Amino acid sequence: MSSMVQIKQADEMQAWALARRLDGARIGLVPTMGYLHAGHLSLVAEARKRADVVVVSIFVNPVQFGPNEDFEKYPRDEARDLEQCERAGASAVFFPSVATMYAPDASVFVTEERLSAGLCGARRPGHFRGVCTVVAKLFNLAQPHVAVFGQKDYQQAAIIRRMVRDLNFPIEIVVAPIVREPDGLAMSSRNVYLSADERQRALGLSRALQAAAACVEQGGAPAADVRARMVEVIEAHALQLDYAEIVDAESLEPVAEARRGNVALVAAQCGRTRLIDNQIL
Ligand code: AMP
Repeated sequence: MSSMVQIKQADEMQAWALARRLDGARIGLVPTMGYLHAGHLSLVAEARKRADVVVVSIFVNPVQFGPNEDFEKYPRDEARDLEQCERAGASAVFFPSVATMYAPDASVFVTEERLSAGLCGARRPGHFRGVCTVVAKLFNLAQPHVAVFGQKDYQQAAIIRRMVRDLNFPIEIVVAPIVREPDGLAMSSRNVYLSADERQRALGLSRALQAAAACVEQGGAPAADVRARMVEVIEAHALQLDYAEIVDAESLEPVAEARRGNVALVAAQCGRTRLIDNQIL
């Protein structure tokens, strides 16, 4: 017998969360776009450690996709996602329609103006405006005490932390480690797009990051050299480089000298699929 509740309407989500708060429960939120994998489930496990009830939201947010991106064909499997949430011990799954999330004339959006400038923000104009807006809305609807995000989307996690700080959301943000396939590929819903050949070539991202980590193992190294090494590995796997950068972990500003504690980030096109990965050096 399941006790997991399924909620589709925004007002129902908020009423449920406010009732749990009146019960004295500590609420955890895990925002996702669905097509769940072990990476998502690790976030649910983390949230369960830190909260009495866990809400998983499943919403492919149109506002964070560009006009030529994969919003329409983004993988979806509601039945399987519900089953996985249930097994992972979620208390509630919120899977709203676009119509319940956005009024047709919605005109208020949340923008972060500094951390969003580079990396994925520079390549996907409006992406983080969409992310901040939907996450702010999910915070208001699910009323979490704690929200768990994945390091897989390093820039996103940094931007959400900044939004929470700058807009005074009373929410603890937890960032959980990247869950990888046994061969190193970071798990992603988009991996389902990869052909067998692309799946092999996709290893270029994690291998580029390992090469970057190896460069700083003995101490610092010029970031340009580390970057060149990453580009070499990406290209050796016949991937089309989008970016490879070494940045400061907090400011996301590129560094001149790569050191331990900096973050290496890569994005590359593998066939028609855009993949990202990162590693703290
Ligand atoms: P998505 O459904 O891709 O929007 O991701 C939802 C949340 O899961 C985000 O906080 C991601 O960073 C996180 N996530 C995605 N893939 C992984 C992974 N391989 N390991 C850990 N967290 C992940």
